[in-house]
Amino acid sequence: MTPALQKRNLMVILPNANVRQDTLTPTHQSAAYLMKLLIVEDEHKTGDYLRKGLGEAGFLVDLCRTGLDGHHLAMTEHYDLIILDVMLPDVDGWRIVSALRDAGRTTPVMFLTARDSVNDRVQGLELGADDYLVKPFAFAELLARVRTLLRRGAPAVTSQQLHVADLTLDLRRRRAARQGKDIHLTSKEFSLLELLVRRQGEVLTRSLIASQVWDMNFDSDSNVIDVAIRRLRAKIDDAYTPRLIHTVRGMGYMLDQPDDA
Ligand code: CA
Repeated sequence: MTPALQKRNLMVILPNANVRQDTLTPTHQSAAYLMKLLIVEDEHKTGDYLRKGLGEAGFLVDLCRTGLDGHHLAMTEHYDLIILDVMLPDVDGWRIVSALRDAGRTTPVMFLTARDSVNDRVQGLELGADDYLVKPFAFAELLARVRTLLRRGAPAVTSQQLHVADLTLDLRRRRAARQGKDIHLTSKEFSLLELLVRRQGEVLTRSLIASQVWDMNFDSDSNVIDVAIRRLRAKIDDAYTPRLIHTVRGMGYMLDQPDDA
């Protein structure tokens, strides 16, 4: 690993020390599927209050305090809903939602902001936010809106499956299967496979894969992508025909199925 990569890795990984996951009561754990929410909020009191309240309401909650952390988690993990403060000290909420939508991620987003001008609302909704709540708000109102958004999103999300040949990706549960057999993938492996499937037939360069899946830039001599592809192939390709992930020498990788498959 080159020093430059190590440095970038640190930049990405260290802020995530702020991310916490609430523990669940046994009752919650028995639910078939736990809704997972991401809160991005730099005001500590508000963030803690939301995490506690939503945790008690039965949601799995990740909380982060900066836009950089929020952007990273929103792009790499699966959430059923993202609650996003607009005014953040580093990467603001507008940029995070734009990046999400540009990457084809349809996760519902609720903006939280102290600002209450018509322009802000319009900008937020145009960028792809699904709802907009002005601070200060009553927790009961936030919870009601969260539930409405989750209900609204549920049917569409349930049908979110991607298929290539006999490979199926369940985007909601972040599960992959080939020939109907479940394949266990790490979160990163799933994100990598999802990117390849969404852009099947396209050659994806290592730097594009790095920026989309790892949210970072790699030196071109880094083999991080190659190692990740090798692991993914071992899981989804080695025991199956046809092989779906192809190396395009000197360029990158492409997921494709032969025309006669
Ligand atoms: Ca703020």
